[in-house]
Amino acid sequence: MNRRKFVAVGSAGLFVAKVWASGSARWMEAFGDREGESKSRDNFSNPQISIKEDGKMKFDFWRYDLKLKHTFTISRSSRDVVPVVLVKFEKDGIAAYGEASPNARYNETSDTVENFFKRVDIEKLSDPFKLEYINDYMDSISDHDSSAKAAIDIAMHDWIGKKVGIPLYKYFGGEKSRTPVSTFTIGIDTPDVIIQKVKEAADYPVLKIKVGLPNDDEIIKAVRSVTEKPLRVDANEGWKSKEEALERINWLSTQNVELIEQPMPAAQIHDVRWLRERVKMPIVADEAVSSMYSIPELATAYDGINIKLQKNGGLLKARKMIYAARVNRMKIMLGCMIESSVGITAAAQISPLVDWNDLDGNVLISNDPFKGAANDKGKIVLNDEPGLGVVPLT
Ligand code: MG
Repeated sequence: MNRRKFVAVGSAGLFVAKVWASGSARWMEAFGDREGESKSRDNFSNPQISIKEDGKMKFDFWRYDLKLKHTFTISRSSRDVVPVVLVKFEKDGIAAYGEASPNARYNETSDTVENFFKRVDIEKLSDPFKLEYINDYMDSISDHDSSAKAAIDIAMHDWIGKKVGIPLYKYFGGEKSRTPVSTFTIGIDTPDVIIQKVKEAADYPVLKIKVGLPNDDEIIKAVRSVTEKPLRVDANEGWKSKEEALERINWLSTQNVELIEQPMPAAQIHDVRWLRERVKMPIVADEAVSSMYSIPELATAYDGINIKLQKNGGLLKARKMIYAARVNRMKIMLGCMIESSVGITAAAQISPLVDWNDLDGNVLISNDPFKGAANDKGKIVLNDEPGLGVVPLT
């Protein structure tokens, strides 16, 4: 597929599908366009949702197109718009939010998210405190659909925090001043655009540079022509042979690069093991991290793991992975997809427990529909509102 033509599937325009689950009754309403956003209603689709409920709960969802400030290119795709699905769960007068950012790497789209929601018996969500039960239930529906599961898990956590009246980072035992400084991501581009992006990122002390295409050297040289900041480099499985990966990492190690993320395809763990014996730079698994069960084997080849709520199914699973990684003496990066402040703030709540933050998904977009944790020159600043601490901007 032409990388430039790779635009995520799903809705093209902004719309809200508001689903009021009350027996067979359901209704939807247009949410209203925002200034400057797509006016197209041609793609206003009827989601045909039918979610059972007990008469005391509501489960709404929105399809929403996040618009990127810059075309975002990594080794396998290029995008201008990222469709996400936002969730609102209401019970006992408490409204809680979640978000799914489906990813083609894991065969997910807004449609697969929606299809998963259709299969959820909302009665199973009637006591959000039963996080283990709810997560087991979601896993019983599907072995996949991590982003859809994350949306519900995040909403359950938001509800719990609001019910108890404390921010989630406290619920998790975190110290909010310990959020690691987040990288700001520079996607693959021409040297001129890379230089422009690096200049725009002047406020961010650490940059994450995407590589994995043939112009890697050109990209790093362009970055280094304008800054000496420490870099973290992500190849997104782009280097296919271990010899190529070794050569690239050896060169990167002369360029003040702190770590290399997913240098080779996830399936080539034996090659990464070979690589690790030959380089000093920490190697971090991302696409290779499927669940907490993958961690012991990954520990034989990688120095750290990149946990993402969307990839790994939400906050409960992410916390288990943090503990599993620590048991295996691995470092932890907390990453993200392109997400609104709902998903990013959810991740921020566990970020005092990790070593490296890469939580800039909401900074890269121009139409964030929520306000949550702040990004102050890379420092993630949690607020003290109960639950996630996110509010819709509409
Ligand atoms: Mg990555």
